[in-house]
Amino acid sequence: MAELVRELACVRARRAAGRTAGSLLREAAVRLRDAGIRTARLDAEVLLAHVLGWRRETLYTHPDRVVDDRAVAEFEAAIQKRLARVPVAYIRSKKEFMSLEFTVTPAVLIPRPETEVLVESVISRLEGKDSPLIMDLGTGSGAIAVALAKFLSAARIVATDISPAALSVARLNAGRYGLQDRIHFEVGDLFEPLHAGEHLGRSYLGSFDAIVSNPPYISRGEMKELAPELSYEPRIALDGGQDGLDFFRKILAGARSFLKSSGFIALEISNLRAQEVKVIADGLGYSTSILPDYSGRDRVLIAGGVL
Ligand code: GLN
Repeated sequence: MAELVRELACVRARRAAGRTAGSLLREAAVRLRDAGIRTARLDAEVLLAHVLGWRRETLYTHPDRVVDDRAVAEFEAAIQKRLARVPVAYIRSKKEFMSLEFTVTPAVLIPRPETEVLVESVISRLEGKDSPLIMDLGTGSGAIAVALAKFLSAARIVATDISPAALSVARLNAGRYGLQDRIHFEVGDLFEPLHAGEHLGRSYLGSFDAIVSNPPYISRGEMKELAPELSYEPRIALDGGQDGLDFFRKILAGARSFLKSSGFIALEISNLRAQEVKVIADGLGYSTSILPDYSGRDRVLIAGGVL
């Protein structure tokens, strides 16, 4: 009993000395929730753990730990950003994808869990193959290219992006996993850098086992009603033209000459326009299938069988 009293006194003294992790968390979660952020509690936990350099679980095991003034101020700044709808990944400058950690900046789209379906479908099709050659168009943060190189240890990848700022982030992410020798980054629009065969010292025509991409696929109408968080992401990574299909037309038409006869294309698609994308691919003579994401929404188009 005496021990319990001492313990309680101790907790009270610590509280009086400063803010505890638990109280900061509760207060922030309420503010985020009142601002209409649905993931309020989770966001508050992730941001506080980030500021403190703790694992999220530690917030539960040590809620009475006092947080120093510098961290309190840093957490408040992070909450202010979140209240302005800045995505958590941009506040922390990192995002997990395929159990790997990626650096992200507002120059790149934040990797999404749905895109793991695309990566996994490519891995399962290329596993065990002798040094497969893969193209990743619009690589952004490099999440797809890096995950493929990491999980397919014999693969070589050519990744392009029109944005030099995005490619710097992608190079950084490849370097973090020591994959810079197996991923070749080129700045340019879609296939454009690969047409300059001489410049690369070889021709890439007919040499790819897979061409993958998560292209911009939001239609103009949808772009006008983006969720506030999406307005922080690069427009160039989202805007798929009037009907959201511009990049599917370009990629499906352009891919043919770069693919091996046994090669295939794997594209992330909008669940709202899966059939339209399929019609484009079918019309170009590909045989196609559509894979669902974890929520059961049409998310990936596989196109192959080019002769
Ligand atoms: N996944 C993004 C979304 O939230 C779209 C990404 C893209 O255009 N490729 O809608």
